[in-house]
Amino acid sequence: MEAVKVVVRCRPLNARERALGCAAVVSVDSARGRCALRNPAAAGQPPKQFAFDGAYRQEHGTEQIYNEVAYPLVEGVTEGYNGTIFAYGQTGSGKSFTMQGVVDPSTEKGIIPRAFEHIFESIQCAENTKFLVRASYLEIYNEDVRDLLGADTKQKLELKEHPEKGMYVKGLSLHTVHSVVQCERIMEMGWRNRAVGYTLMNKDSSRSHSIFTIHMEICTVDERGQDHLRAAKLNLVDLAGSERQSKTGATGERLKEATKINLSLSALGNVISALVDGRCKHIPYRDSKLTRLLQDSLGGNTKTLMIACLSPADNNYDESLSTLRYANRAK
Ligand code: ADP
Repeated sequence: MEAVKVVVRCRPLNARERALGCAAVVSVDSARGRCALRNPAAAGQPPKQFAFDGAYRQEHGTEQIYNEVAYPLVEGVTEGYNGTIFAYGQTGSGKSFTMQGVVDPSTEKGIIPRAFEHIFESIQCAENTKFLVRASYLEIYNEDVRDLLGADTKQKLELKEHPEKGMYVKGLSLHTVHSVVQCERIMEMGWRNRAVGYTLMNKDSSRSHSIFTIHMEICTVDERGQDHLRAAKLNLVDLAGSERQSKTGATGERLKEATKINLSLSALGNVISALVDGRCKHIPYRDSKLTRLLQDSLGGNTKTLMIACLSPADNNYDESLSTLRYANRAK
């Protein structure tokens, strides 16, 4: 598997878009991993074409996406390699649907619970190996880091650098987990604690980035009875909505917030495109908390998957174009 993979997922038109009589302007060619976007304001112009490592539309469930692109990454984590999965896109495009998912139908169970199942299955099947699995869940809101599972979820935490272990969040709580159910409970608890704000786009729109991390320590005993210890992390990242502030009608504090969100998303885009380029000596990790925090899980010996989520509706054309351009740069 390549170090960085980018796929797009286009959701179906929703009831509101159908009621408004919106046309679908995104077409997906899954066989070739391509996506085309038609400009509703420029009839007759050929659609803009984009190519990715995968392109999914409504009939492709999260199950298929997991098996095709997330599975190899999570498998790598159980073998000792760090991995990161991002969901990117405007509010309402399907990021949470993809990451957290829904219980019914089971094909739409999210990537996060699927990763829990995958990891605990691997643990059960492994021979001569002991595992310690811990989970943490944090959010970055306005460039402030908070522990979604901490005793005080309002407390701002500091990012620190350890000479050997690298970046870490001082005071972040780590929770030992022994089962899928325990992982799910922790995810739900953190999810409830997430700060949610109001924008004109969507009343529940989340203005924060959240990172659920599974920390694994893997101890293998060889034939001579010697222990070999490896550690790996899986970061499951639900990014804040990528919409531009002009469309959300934000002002004052909210505008400041939106500017910071855009800043960290562009910092992430810059890091990923520098990694993909391969020729860059300088990777600009330091430009945002998000990229600093994920520094040891992006690049080097790690795997990264970006799932860019899209609405097919013509009234989201500008946002869809910006998402496709962002995802294409990460390619
Ligand atoms: P976001 O997290 O990007 O703000 P959501 O994941 O909350 O967006 O999705 C918005 C709405 O669209 C939800 O009601 C969700 O169930 C629905 N939805 C998103 N993606 C899909 C999909 N691929 N198929 C069916 N419904 C979807």
